[in-house]
Amino acid sequence: METVHIDGSTGEGGGQILRTSLALSCITGKALHIDNIRAARRNAGLAKQHLVCVEAARAICDAKCRGAVLGSKVLDFQPGSIRSGDYHFDIGSAGSASLVIQAVLPALFLAGQPSTVTVTGGTHNPMAPPFDFFCETFLPAVAVAGFQADCRLIKPGFFPAGGGKMTINVQPWEENTSRAIDPFDFAQGRLCEPLEQPQIYARIYTAKLPAHIAQRQKRLLSQSGLDLQDIEHVEVTDSAGAGNCVMIRLCSSSRTTVFTAYGMRGKPSQEVVGEVVAQAKDFSAGGAAIDRFLADQLLIYMALSKRGCYVTNELSTHLQTNMEIIQKFLPISFNVQRHERAYRICCHPAS
Ligand code: ATP
Repeated sequence: METVHIDGSTGEGGGQILRTSLALSCITGKALHIDNIRAARRNAGLAKQHLVCVEAARAICDAKCRGAVLGSKVLDFQPGSIRSGDYHFDIGSAGSASLVIQAVLPALFLAGQPSTVTVTGGTHNPMAPPFDFFCETFLPAVAVAGFQADCRLIKPGFFPAGGGKMTINVQPWEENTSRAIDPFDFAQGRLCEPLEQPQIYARIYTAKLPAHIAQRQKRLLSQSGLDLQDIEHVEVTDSAGAGNCVMIRLCSSSRTTVFTAYGMRGKPSQEVVGEVVAQAKDFSAGGAAIDRFLADQLLIYMALSKRGCYVTNELSTHLQTNMEIIQKFLPISFNVQRHERAYRICCHPAS
């Protein structure tokens, strides 16, 4: 069995290197040896979320593995064949549920039969895709390339208490739905043009917090200079702990982009709202089609489609590192062209 050697300290040096490597090991059947896991993080090695990613990947392809313990910096993973199924994973902390799904989703799309994955953990955590982004931004973007799935928020879970739950139903990849329309463009080229005159909405989540927090955030949002159609307040009463985040959703007929900022003890609402408003305004002014988070998350799907392009507003280290890791497993190449304030990322079969 061929083994791909990955240095976990490459580029960004975080958990995404592990998730991408696990996903592609399952898909290609190549064994994975990864060392220096999360070398660039303060708590290097496998943290809870990453260990659950390994366990989840092991479960869906009946893999043998060595080094799957908390804190481990080295992992050997030998995949078997991918199996569809009804999977449940519990992170046991506020680790991100959507990132655990990210580790197994590409392989489950290729399983030939539908699957369901339910994950207990954090659904709204800083530095990870919140449920709303996963459901409204990420899934529709891959759906137009034939990767169909729908997800449901069973219970929100915020950092640090966690205890949230989300579930996803995954359909086998219908490669031809994208190919039949345009064989050369991932997602039919829809991810190259900026959103046309998006409608702008805001959403505030509060859990177990005084009512004045959402009221203040509403007021700040309405003074932000954005032409907001609506500000929705989701008050979560059954969460395991307190939580707050503010989202701005840019919605057009073809796609939705969700930006998020998190409230936390000692962080003024002005700062929370200021952060998310700045993200939305910068993105809108930049002429890109997709934001920097979607950009790194889409790469693997574009690589499975073997060719395509999108235009993003930032060449993040996550994006660059993910390109490097994917090219170690799959016979494809990425190239990057700068266009004024945006970057065009293209994928084609390696020559
Ligand atoms: P580590 O603790 O090692 O950083 P990690 O596994 O939590 O590990 P990263 O390797 O940093 O994470 O990857 C984080 C992922 O979360 C990236 O794919 C990034 O695009 C995504 N992400 C971060 N913030 C957001 C956000 N606000 N909206 C959507 N996606 C996000």
